[in-house]
Amino acid sequence: MKAVQKRMAAVSAAAAIALGTITAMPASAIEKDLVLFSSEAEKCTITDGGTATDKVYNDEYPGFTGDGFVWAGNAGGFSFDVDLKEGAMYEVTVRSYSYLGDRLQNLAIDGEVVATVNFQQSSKWEDISFGSFYIPEGKHTIEVGASGSWGFMLYDSVQFGYAKMPKMEIKPTPCDKKATAETKALMQYLTSVYGKQVLAGQQEIYGSGHDGNYEYEFDYLSDTTGKLPAVRGFDMMNYNPLYGWDDNSTERIIDWTTNKNGIATACWHLNVPIDFENYTLGDEVDWKDCTYKNYQASNGTFNTEKILDKTSKERQYFDAAVKLLAEQFLRVQEAGAPIIFRPLHEAQGNYGRYGDGTAWFWWGDRGPEVYKELWKLLYTELTETYGVHNLIWEQNLYEMDNSIEWYPGAEYVDIIAYDKYEGSPTRWETDPATSVFLKLVGYSDDTKMVALAECDKIPEITKIRNEGAWWLYVCPWYDDYITSESNNTKALLKEFYNSDLVLTLDEMPKDLYSADPVDGTDSKTTTTTTVTTTTVTETTSSEGSSNLMRGDVNLDKIVDVKDAVMLARLVGGDITVSVKADGEKNADMNNDGKHTPEDLTILMRTLAHLI
Ligand code: CA
Repeated sequence: MKAVQKRMAAVSAAAAIALGTITAMPASAIEKDLVLFSSEAEKCTITDGGTATDKVYNDEYPGFTGDGFVWAGNAGGFSFDVDLKEGAMYEVTVRSYSYLGDRLQNLAIDGEVVATVNFQQSSKWEDISFGSFYIPEGKHTIEVGASGSWGFMLYDSVQFGYAKMPKMEIKPTPCDKKATAETKALMQYLTSVYGKQVLAGQQEIYGSGHDGNYEYEFDYLSDTTGKLPAVRGFDMMNYNPLYGWDDNSTERIIDWTTNKNGIATACWHLNVPIDFENYTLGDEVDWKDCTYKNYQASNGTFNTEKILDKTSKERQYFDAAVKLLAEQFLRVQEAGAPIIFRPLHEAQGNYGRYGDGTAWFWWGDRGPEVYKELWKLLYTELTETYGVHNLIWEQNLYEMDNSIEWYPGAEYVDIIAYDKYEGSPTRWETDPATSVFLKLVGYSDDTKMVALAECDKIPEITKIRNEGAWWLYVCPWYDDYITSESNNTKALLKEFYNSDLVLTLDEMPKDLYSADPVDGTDSKTTTTTTVTTTTVTETTSSEGSSNLMRGDVNLDKIVDVKDAVMLARLVGGDITVSVKADGEKNADMNNDGKHTPEDLTILMRTLAHLI
């Protein structure tokens, strides 16, 4: 199957196909009320290389309708004309018989090939779809078995009609039944625009990228388009038990949502120690000795499957990581904001490069069954153990035949997402990857929203509208992915950001996080949450000051994540942070008279109960 897919991908690239099924599967005929044209193939115009007949040489193929069928050759098959009242997505299905092995068959509109489909060998007449295509209004000639096809194919009849498109009417109920009022309000807003408009999104850089200028991409977009995206992508990767330092992602999430009225989405590139076998829980590990790659690529000893074993070191590590993450999410929850959370992303990525069906991240490297249990564990830990109820759960899936095996189920997922990059395996250019969009919609039977969570090239908004590929939001990755003209021209960005069909930050409703739910239930009950705190024994001090408590940087008598935030700013040289003299003493965790990243590490580990 992989070899076939590869061959087909090459063929489709050569034919510059934007859309269309690559490997033909038996399909049902177009639904009756959508059919615009239906005919016996042999009654259509026979094109060069085609023959209307009822037998091939002396072989008979019984079961055809009408007077016979078209025997297609390499050069052509048959064609028909349509006069369309509107530009829309249309579908062509044929009743066919592939009697001489697998045959590649072309479909052309007005002489231009729009789909190349592999018709697998059959021993009977079958309905096969060439897929769906946008065709503008007016007169057009549709040719089946067009030039470039592999010949020796039989066509009995043809149907042409409107493609059946999803309704995209999604219930605004988050999968987390205890979701906060703000989360419900956001879910309601998202479902109200889905299928009609697209939210502009942008991923920010993390860590200390762009010398700490987290506005780099946003300044570029503002300068180029005059607008800012509605959705901002964050990465929680630096909250981990190994080298965790706070790059203030949480602050920026809170600022973006509560001050700027934007929508936040976050992924989590959680690292593990490569040499996990010799790792002691609580130890600091330099990031160079950590990895989020699969064990095959990193030669690591972290066994993802063991997380499911409560007694394993892997599980203890995972628990510590989730605890740190939960602390951050609870801060956002207390601030009154939700997050579209996309953990354990691209689990089926890499398209099986390692030959065992595993992916490029460690969370996918033991296959779909382990992965699904891991997803459920993370879901249960965050919601039930830590009371995190401000998340809209988003999962990456792929478009492969077996991708649905990675879906943990409707009760754990709110949004299904795709990460679209050029050449893996398709070069989409500015096409909206409609065939992928429709496939992802189908995974939940059109009950979940579908988003483009990462991409390089932004699709043209006119193509999104024409083809009905209504990705909920489109979120390019940071740096060159957005700023390089080879990925996104300024003209494209201007058109996208200023389209009435694209929603930007200035267009977010005032009640984005406070709208009353449509189902009439009381949304004003805010879930009470408690940020985990750690009691630290008071430091004995010759000064005898009651303010001295190691780790209590803000002098509120509690050592918690707020102190870590202040310490991070202190260590980072942030001159706007106001720390009192006693707070500065408390911040010196290792008592060496300085404020260094080591102090921050000790404090973070303290909070994680790792020391
Ligand atoms: Ca026929």
